[in-house]
Amino acid sequence: MGKPTGFLEFERKLGKNDSVTERVTHYNEFHNLLSKDEQIEQGARCMDCGIPFCQSGILIKGMASGCPLNNLIPEFNDLVYKNNLNLALDRLLKTNPFPEFTGRVCPAPCESACTVSINSPAVSIKENERFIIDNAYEEGFLKADDPKYRNEKKVAVIGSGPAGLSCSYYLNRYGYSVDVYEREDRIGGLLMYGIPNMKLDKEVVDRRIEILKEEGINFFTNYDICLDEDFRNEVLNKYDAIVLATGATKPRNLNIPGRNLNGVYFAVDYLKENTRYLLNNLKNEKFISCKDKNVLVIGGGDTGTDCVATSIRQGCKSVIQLEITNQLPNERLESNPWPEWNRTLKVDYGQEEALEIFGEDPRKYCKSVKEFISDDMGNIKSAKIIKVQWYTDKSGRFTFKEIEGSEEVIEVDIVLLAMGFLGTEEYISNSLNLNLDDRGNIKAKYKSFKTNKEKIFTCGDARRGQSLVVWAIREGLEAAKSINEYLD
Ligand SMILES: Cc1cc2nc3c(=O)[nH]c(=O)nc-3n(C[C@H](O)[C@H](O)[C@H](O)COP(=O)(O)OP(=O)(O)OC[C@H]3O[C@@H](n4cnc5c(N)ncnc54)[C@H](O)[C@@H]3O)c2cc1C
Ligand code: SF4
Repeated sequence: MGKPTGFLEFERKLGKNDSVTERVTHYNEFHNLLSKDEQIEQGARCMDCGIPFCQSGILIKGMASGCPLNNLIPEFNDLVYKNNLNLALDRLLKTNPFPEFTGRVCPAPCESACTVSINSPAVSIKENERFIIDNAYEEGFLKADDPKYRNEKKVAVIGSGPAGLSCSYYLNRYGYSVDVYEREDRIGGLLMYGIPNMKLDKEVVDRRIEILKEEGINFFTNYDICLDEDFRNEVLNKYDAIVLATGATKPRNLNIPGRNLNGVYFAVDYLKENTRYLLNNLKNEKFISCKDKNVLVIGGGDTGTDCVATSIRQGCKSVIQLEITNQLPNERLESNPWPEWNRTLKVDYGQEEALEIFGEDPRKYCKSVKEFISDDMGNIKSAKIIKVQWYTDKSGRFTFKEIEGSEEVIEVDIVLLAMGFLGTEEYISNSLNLNLDDRGNIKAKYKSFKTNKEKIFTCGDARRGQSLVVWAIREGLEAAKSINEYLD
């Protein structure tokens, strides 16, 4: 265990972010780790409580409690405290093939379930994880690890997000020959063309892809088996199993008057093209600029926050983020006890930046949009928004109604729709005659991951709907196990 009295002696401490004024001038990562001695002290805070919900990865009320990868958290915390970083890496890689991704972008359900967090701030599990893996890269501990043997069977993985990468990693280790086909021009899925560079540097993604290549996985970009019938038939004949890790990329639309005006975009299209511009140092015709514009982001989740932060870096004039739900409380409610996911108000990086630059939190709660209004050139010039009220209806359903007379019109030059996703794109399921579940995801049971078509499997957001990187990695791991049983 860490230090028996560590949680009493040391306070939780996280690395510092670069100042807002400095970091909004670029797209680089801005979160710094503590010094080595300070991080070791943080490892000492784990009390090896004997009931490590932090690593349980169970669902309570539909939300993850504890690490979905079952990371061996008390063990690696202890090894951080003992400054045995090689062994800490070994323990971490037993359950998580890509800690450099989760150590940066995971919302850390482990920390909501940490026993120390019952009455004081949780152990800094996520930061300890990142410290172990970043140190391993810096010290050159992390090397390609070739599979011990190869069998004759071949698997095609379609889609190269965290689910596809994780599935490929484990299949490769089982000895299969793995070919990954990605429709984009770069590998990584939303790790590459979704999550902005300031949260996850694209060099961190590329660095891992290089290791996977050295380990024997083949990657092919600009390939889409669902669009090209000849190529699809070739893949279906050539491989012993096919995994669709194609994500849940169909964005939720807003069907209101003015939706088709110039200046109304889906959030991921906006974020993707901004990253492409950064990587190519070239603006193509799809690039969307918020420079000197009044920006309206619709959706209060992570994607919306990424849009706020990106539009600030592009030099927007103002930014508002509409959220239809109520504001979360500052403290856990009695109805949301430990070790459940902590449903409290968080001020994420985008909001922190807007607060400092524009003097207020960009989030406006209980607000919805009624209409987008055009100038005489077909461009959006304003939006009519309205307040809503949440209540429980007669059937017990929590729902909302618009508050009459609460409309206001705000000046808007760009709207970014970040209202979540509605499952798989139809052309993918149609091209392979795949059954969908009632949420529009490719239908397959957890643990089996088999679709209705012989030898076709699915995992990640494509199967569970838009989720988290940590769940995508878990699904990839479990799908690889199921395929191994199928092909064995
Ligand atoms: C803007 C944004 C920010 C996010 N931030 C976070 C965060 O901070 N933390 C977190 O944990 N999660 C975050 N998420 C969610 C997380 O990124 C996803 O849950 C995760 O990437 C899902 O992984 P996946 O591999 O299933 O799918 P994806 O990452 O979506 O990858 C699917 C891949 O399949 C490819 N593909 C699709 N169809 C085909 C085809 N027919 N042929 C070939 N290739 C195809 C796509 O191009 C894509 O590359 C965020 C999501 C978004 C949109
Ligand atoms: S992957 Fe996420 S949930 Fe698991 S230990 Fe790391 S930060 Fe916690």
